[in-house]
This record gives sequence, C-alpha cells and structure tokens, in this order.
Amino acid sequence: MRSMTEIEEMVRPTPRSGLRKVPAADKSRNLRRTMREDGICVLTFDRPGSTANIFDLATLEELRRELDFIASAPEVTGVILVSAKPTIFIAGVDLRRLTNSTPPEEIRALLEFGQAQIHRVAQLPVPTVAAIHGAAMGGGYEISLACDYRLAAPDRVTRIGLPETNIGVLPAWGGATRLPRLIGLPKALNFILAGKTVTARQALKLGMVDELVPAERLVRAAVQKISHGKPRRSSHWMVNNPLVVTILALVQRRRLLQKTRSHYPAVMKAFEVMIHGITKSIATSLALERDGILELAQTDACHNLIRIFFQQERAKKLSLEGQAPFPEPKPVARTAVIGAGVMGAGIAQWLSARGLPVVLRDVNTEQVARGMTGIARLYQDGVRRHSLTPRDAREGLDRIYPAPMEVPLRHVDLVIEAAVENLDLKKKIFQRLGELAGDDTVLATNTSALPVSGLAAVTLRPERVLGLHFFNPVHRMQLVEIIATPHTAPAALARAVLFVQRIGKLPVVVKDSPGFLVNRILMPYLIEAGNLFEHGASLEQLDEAMLDFGMPMGPMRLLDEVGVDVARHVAQTLAANFSDRMLVPAVLAKMVEAGLLGRKCGRGFYLYGKSGEPRANPSAAFVPSQTAAAMTRMELQERMVFLMINEAAHCLEEQIIATPEDVDFAMIMGTGFAPFRGGPLRYADSLGVEKIAGAMEILADGGATQFKPCGLLRRMAATGTKFYPQP
Ligand code: NAD
Repeated sequence: MRSMTEIEEMVRPTPRSGLRKVPAADKSRNLRRTMREDGICVLTFDRPGSTANIFDLATLEELRRELDFIASAPEVTGVILVSAKPTIFIAGVDLRRLTNSTPPEEIRALLEFGQAQIHRVAQLPVPTVAAIHGAAMGGGYEISLACDYRLAAPDRVTRIGLPETNIGVLPAWGGATRLPRLIGLPKALNFILAGKTVTARQALKLGMVDELVPAERLVRAAVQKISHGKPRRSSHWMVNNPLVVTILALVQRRRLLQKTRSHYPAVMKAFEVMIHGITKSIATSLALERDGILELAQTDACHNLIRIFFQQERAKKLSLEGQAPFPEPKPVARTAVIGAGVMGAGIAQWLSARGLPVVLRDVNTEQVARGMTGIARLYQDGVRRHSLTPRDAREGLDRIYPAPMEVPLRHVDLVIEAAVENLDLKKKIFQRLGELAGDDTVLATNTSALPVSGLAAVTLRPERVLGLHFFNPVHRMQLVEIIATPHTAPAALARAVLFVQRIGKLPVVVKDSPGFLVNRILMPYLIEAGNLFEHGASLEQLDEAMLDFGMPMGPMRLLDEVGVDVARHVAQTLAANFSDRMLVPAVLAKMVEAGLLGRKCGRGFYLYGKSGEPRANPSAAFVPSQTAAAMTRMELQERMVFLMINEAAHCLEEQIIATPEDVDFAMIMGTGFAPFRGGPLRYADSLGVEKIAGAMEILADGGATQFKPCGLLRRMAATGTKFYPQP
C-alpha cells in the first residue's frame, strides 16, 4: 500500500523546475497540488483529520480553485488525481447534505456546483488520469469518469461503484451521461440501475477502468498515460444508436416498472435520463441528470434510504464503550464452527475469506465433506464473479480445518455453534464446549429462536456465552444479531461486536428472548399469512399483496425458502411463549406431514422446476374455509403488516432492543422490509399509530384476538405520540 510519503516523493517538484512555486502545504485543505518538473499537476485528495475523502462544498470549492489555476497555467501538461488515504480514493458526496433537514436550495447549490466542477475536469485540454486506490464511490468514480484515463490498484480495498439508486437518487455528476458512452448503454444501465459496486478486476472487465496497476506504481503509470496524449475511444455505435435505444427503452421500461412496482422513483428516473441522454449532447444529458436528482432528493424514499445508509455507518462504528468499564476488546484471531450444514458452512466460508482460520466440526466425515463442498462452491462463485482471485480462493479454503472428530479448542478465541435446531442437542454441545474451550473463548450460538440463557446455564462460565445470529445466505445478508443474556459479560459482548464489525457484517445488540428481534417480528407476519391461506386467500393474492407493499418476496414464497419445517419449528417456539397472540396455523403441520417442505425439496406451497418461475402447488390446498378469499389487497397487507408493527412495539416495550431506529434497521437488513418505507416503525408513524391501533382494535373485537394492540401502541394512540418525534 502506498504511503503519503511515497506519493509525495514521486510527485515532489525538483529545485531545477522552472514551474511556479507551490505554496507550503496547508493542513486544513482537502486537496493538495504538486507540480512535477515535466509539467504534470498532481492533485492529491487528503481530507484533514479523516480516513475518507468526500465531496463537500469546501472540497468542491478547492477543486474549483485548482481548475482555475490549471486553466491559467499553460505549462501544465497533464493532471493526475490521487488520494492520500490508505483505503479510500473518494467516497462520494457528503450525504449529510442530502437529508430532509437541509434546505432544498442548499441541496441544489451543492449538486449543481459539483456537476459543473466535474464537467470542467472533462473539458481540460490536457490529458487527465484518475489513479484509483481504495473506494471510488458515486462522485468519486464520476470525477474519474470525467478523466481521460482510469487506472486502478487491484487491492481488496479498491471498490468502484455508482450506488446512487440505492439511496434514492441517480449519478448526476456525469455518471449517467459518461458511463453509457464509455461502456455502452446496456452495460451501463445494468450497472447504474442496480446501484452496483465492483472490485477493480470486475471494473476492468466491464471497461470501467483502463488498466490495473499496483498501488505503488500508479503515479508512474499515470505519467506514462499522459505521455500518450488524449485517447481515442469506441463510440459503441452498435448499442448506443437510436434504433437500439428505442428497443431497449420499450423492453426495459415495462420490466422495470413491474420490478420496482413504482416504489423506487430513482431507478425509473435514472433509466429515463440514460435512455434520453444517450442520443443527446453531453450538455443536454447533464441537464437531464441535474433536473432528475433535484426532483428525487425531495422524495420520502430518498430520505428513508439515506437514513438506512447512516444507520449502516453507525452499526459499523457501534461501540459498547461507556456502557461498562472494561479494556479494549481483544480481536478474534482463531475460530471454530460447530455444524457444517447450510449455516455452519456459510459462516466458515465467510470467516476464512476474511483471513480467519476456522476449525469446522461436524459429526462425521460425510457431513464435514458436504460442508466443504458447499464452501468450495461459494469460493468458485467468487472467482467466477471476479470478486476473488483463484489465489484468494485457494488460501481461503486452506484456512479451514475440517474436523470430523473432537479437537482441542483451548486456543480458539470464538466458537460459533450452528448444529441442528434442537435444545437438548445444543445443551449437550455447550456442556462439552465449556470443557474443551479455553478460559477466554467466547461461546456463541447461531440458534434461530432457542433461549441462549438455557445454553449458558449448562456451561461452567455462562458469562462468556452469547448468541451470534447470522442470516441465510450468510454471504449476502449483512446483519448479525448479537444476543446478550443477563449473564453475558460486557467484555465478551464487546468482543463479539468488534468481531462482527471486523468481518464486515453489521451488528445489532438485542436481549435474549424467544426469536430475539428479527424472527420474533417476522413470525407473526408469516403466521398470519398461513392463517389467511387457510381461510381461502390464494398464494398469488398473498404474495402479490406483499410484493406490492415493497417486500422483496411474498410471505408464502418466503415460507418455502426458509423451509416449511424450519418455519414451523420457529413458530412453535414463539407460540409457546406468546400464546396470547401466536397460534401456529394447522396448514404448516399438514405441509410437513405431506413432505412439502419448500424449495429445498422442490415442493412446498409452490412447485420448483429446474428452470422457470415456481408454480402454485395444487397439493398444498389445505383450505378449510373461504372467509379470507374476498379480502382486498389492502386488507391483506394491513393484517400482515400491522402484526409486525405490534410485535416491534412489544419488543421496544420489553426493551429487547434499545431504539426504534435499531428495530427498523434490523428489519430492513435482516428481512428486506420495504427499505423505502424506512422500516415498520417509521411506516407506522407515516400511517399514524392512532389509525393502526384503531383498526387493530376493530379486528380484535371481531374475534381475531391476535390483533389486540400492545400497551405501548395503545398509549401512543391515546397521546398522539410517534416512534420518531423528529421528522
Ligand atoms: P443444517 O441441518 O443444514 O445443519 C446442521 C448441521 O449440524 C448438520 O450438518 C449436522 O450434521 C450437524 N450436527 C448435528 N449434531 C451435531 C453435533 N453434535 N456436533 C456437530 N455438528 C452437529 O442446519 P442449518 O440450517 O445450518 O441451521 C443450523 C443452525 O442455524 C440452527 O440452529 C438454525 O436454527 C440456525 N439458523 C438457520 C438458518 C437457516 O435459514 N437455515 C438461519 C439462521 C439460523
């Protein structure tokens, strides 16, 4: 990795240089200019007191001044953009300026000024190079797009992306205009509409960067590029011509509308800007970008999505310091995973890919081998997608020690148990782990709903036992619930938080209680879906209603994905504890008896072929009544969503989790709860708690007692309070 001194060494002006004198470096500046003897101007982004460079008004103003200087200095022969930060090139625009607390005119000023400066980079008469090392996100990649060449260091820290549509806006600093011209419209649509981020290698493959160059040679390679002058580039006329664009527009517009169900205006707007902009001049396309982003920045969807972004950042930095006096947690260096099934294998792969050695234990060679095959497949996928090199994959696999027999665990820092969901079995495992592990080893369970305290109680030192609830599939789901029992030591908890952050996941700390937080809130929703199905609502009615609401998958499909037997087991655990409002629908037992376990066996509520969309399974028609058959989409949505809101309120009331923000964040990250709605509790505020509690009382009075609102909801309704007093 390149250090600051190395960069300065490479670009330092020599005393013989006849160029104008550069003022001494000003420590309060975000951007530093160094003139080389050959006339190349190196602009180094180095935000003071921060590990990241971002585009705020001050940085853009400095960029403007530097561009003024370059325009007035005929001796400048080329420009190189670099970053002095070890992991970030430029992380994008300062998102704190895009929230709903910023006056619209300030947002407009920032966005317009940014676009204008980046456009000036594109218009410089001398060759320009972005030498990317670290994350080049949003505006950070857009300024690179405005350069003539893009070189990227192939390190793990280099990530290149235009994730704007994920936060409800579009790349409006030239991204939606220049990327289609650089790599062709179809590929650019794919990239921008999905808000993608890729590795340097993937970026090279897509044509988003020109070359991969080791970090320490970036500036030298950039100088060489400049010596070649401005490049000639393909116009991609085969795909960027009006005929292809018209066909693409027709086909894709319909597909996108279906997919987003009008919930993600940013995706549609980015699409329209790119489709219209590609056949127009750059100036017109930039104007379309500008109008588009200014409209989007005012939407609730944008504000909610930006909030989620900040919650993710908060989770990455979450620290338990201040809550209890204990020393800095010791990082986890060695791990063991017990159980090489779906979850155990997924967790072992994730940990080994992040450099941690893992002992992977299961009951026999066959089970361990099955787990290792799954892990090898995950690594192969990574290599195929260019997110890993073959060497990364080999080294990752080598870090896993398959253990079909008992092995000493004394030197392991953390054990994660992911054996089958059976309390007696898990108790036996924990008893033995207590004997095998060292005094400092943290013992964690990945149980979905069983009491962690029950497992802690069978060990000699319950203070080091906690829950680490990963979600399925482990390589995709970012959230990890960290479950603290009343006996968990603060030091063990702090160590777990640090561990989750170090492996690149997002922690949320919850109290030990059946189903913890996410499954507890999700289960009443799935139970109600089962209930409604039993009473005549069709699979299509139920799944379409919730897709329309904004869930990533309908509840009946979700039951199939989780596994009907697994879902039934979790539902039973919860129903045993919350019998006043949860009753496992009979249909789940009937499905299990009939062997209709969901996707894993090809048959559940749906039938799964080798290809194509799943079809409704006629054998799953365990429907004794038709009372729900005529319910409207809205009624179905309300019944399912209100129960989630009520359970979330129960969790707050019981202090299972600290704040409404934490609830919403966990539900969005753990279940994909309609992100643009901001989570169940923010959605409750937008609808009005009074209205929700009132509707629930009516349903409960009609005999559906599961709808009885909890005390917190009733009190809030009576006093007109909100979960979020500030908008
Ligand atoms: P699985 O059935 O795929 O795997 C369980 C593995 O545990 C099997 O390989 C089995 O051989 C092994 N095992 C059984 N007894 C063992 C023992 N004494 N020592 C070591 N290994 C033993 O189950 P899974 O889906 O991976 O779930 C594992 C745990 O993770 C469960 O507690 C489950 O509730 C939880 N979980 C599952 C999901 C999910 O979606 N599958 C999600 C989150 C949490």
